[in-house]
Amino acid sequence: MTIDADIALVGGGGAASLILASLTPGPRVAVVDPVHKRGQDRTWAFWGTPGTFLDPLLSASWNAVDVVTPASHRTLDLQPLRYAMLRSAPLYDLADQNPSAVRVTAPAHTLADDGNRVLVSAPDGTPLVRASWVLDSRPRPPARPGRVNWLQHFRGWWLESDTPVFEPGRAVLMDFRTPQPARGVSFGYVLPVSDRFALVEYTEFSPSTLTGEAYDTALRGYAATLGLDLTALRVREVEDGVIPMTDGVFETRPSPRVIRIGTAGGATRPSTGFTFTAMVRQASRIAAEVAAGRPPLPGPAYPARHLWMDAVQLRALDRGLVDGVAFFERLFERNPPDRVLRFLDGATSPAEELALMSSTPLLPMTRAAFGDAAARFRRGV
Ligand SMILES: Cc1cc2nc3c(=O)[nH]c(=O)nc-3n(C[C@H](O)[C@H](O)[C@H](O)COP(=O)(O)OP(=O)(O)OC[C@H]3O[C@@H](n4cnc5c(N)ncnc54)[C@H](O)[C@@H]3O)c2cc1C
Repeated sequence: MTIDADIALVGGGGAASLILASLTPGPRVAVVDPVHKRGQDRTWAFWGTPGTFLDPLLSASWNAVDVVTPASHRTLDLQPLRYAMLRSAPLYDLADQNPSAVRVTAPAHTLADDGNRVLVSAPDGTPLVRASWVLDSRPRPPARPGRVNWLQHFRGWWLESDTPVFEPGRAVLMDFRTPQPARGVSFGYVLPVSDRFALVEYTEFSPSTLTGEAYDTALRGYAATLGLDLTALRVREVEDGVIPMTDGVFETRPSPRVIRIGTAGGATRPSTGFTFTAMVRQASRIAAEVAAGRPPLPGPAYPARHLWMDAVQLRALDRGLVDGVAFFERLFERNPPDRVLRFLDGATSPAEELALMSSTPLLPMTRAAFGDAAARFRRGV
């Protein structure tokens, strides 16, 4: 039987769960995903202002974070923002409590949009849902491939100890004392939930992923840098991830009533891979539009000028025009932390962006900007 809905969420992961949690009851929602997302499959770290519906779901939050390089150790006071950790299970549980949603546990294939309704069908052609609007978060590459296609890729260990070894009041945002890859930049970070339990992660921004053994070696090395004795700690969970960092263009509205959201809709910040805050923003805009009786349009994930700045930064890193560690060190050294973090979320004013740009190495960034302009021109021709 084909389900009739006001909104079909095709893909029921992070972006869809935030929408389910944000919508006020009323619209009939169908969630089409071959997997009913439950439990712990990822940990979201993000910054923002306290006082949202996510607050009761958080595992931890910090008012200050450390940024560490081989040459410096900086503690950033984030207020009025805070850095927060949300594990996936509580968000998936909250999404499941939406009383107007039904689940279709099947893969979606075609979305046939006649301009009034969209028919969502399975790969064998079976019609699954007919909806007024489709919000599609199925993973897909950008419609126009990037000139730079890097990845944020990482492995994290949830480490448990019988004795206090972590400082729950202090999170490490980026610790660049990890060995740097030939191309790209690497860092570790620590997100303590208590004095005995923390997520310790090794991350790279670079063109390609590593072997499992290489991530483990990097994590062992980073644990040693932190002075952690791994023989006295248990690895309770392992978290792997790969997130696109690209200046490719994601198509956000492939047909009149199909809207892409989440990573597929361009919510991933090209210069960092951070995605969560843009997804929260998309979800709250969609919920507000629906509550006002308007189409569920999330608006652009980031201002166009931010995407241009990210393309220039990615190019500068990719071509080796700037040193990654020095780049991030300068950014945090020469700007108030909330300016940097709001910029990474796409929420700064042009005046603040000028200040941020002037704190980056001028000559290499200008070369990268000219190179980016030339590449755009060649592609246009
Ligand atoms: C391990 C991990 C940790 C992350 N941590 C952070 C973080 O700390 N901070 C941050 O900002 N970002 C983080 N990200 C990036 C981003 O926030 C997440 O990837 C987020 O889950 C993206 O949400 P999404 O809905 O776009 O994609 P997903 O959550 O991946 O959801 C996509 C859904 O589509 C479904 N699907 C696939 N094919 C079909 C089909 N044919 N039909 C229907 N459904 C289909 C999948 O089953 C899945 O449920 C992380 C990513 C990973 C992988």
